[in-house]
Amino acid sequence: MRLTHSGEVRRIALDRIARLMEFARRHASERPELAREAGKLILRICRKARIRLPAAYKRLICRKCGTPFYIPGSFRVRVRSKRSTHVVITCITCGYVKRIPAVREKKAMRVKA
Ligand SMILES: [Zn+2]
Repeated sequence: MRLTHSGEVRRIALDRIARLMEFARRHASERPELAREAGKLILRICRKARIRLPAAYKRLICRKCGTPFYIPGSFRVRVRSKRSTHVVITCITCGYVKRIPAVREKKAMRVKA
């Protein structure tokens, strides 16, 4: 049964994702088209292995079109403080908007103090 090896599939997938991210980072400036291909592959691996994009890479790649944000000028970051404080990352390639709440960081600081 191949399903019993799902832990291994996950491990291999995460390993490949890490390698592809490193590849994308290295080629982002000179060969952005290669970096984009690597990014698309990463999204496909995630879907196939049924895993989430590792948290460490979540903010470094567009989850819609796979553009690695290592490519200069591929994204825009804005901090919005209306309502709750959050960071907005916009992918220049496809326009996908990702909002990251920054409230948790504030709360964490308060708890520690
Ligand atoms: Zn995108």
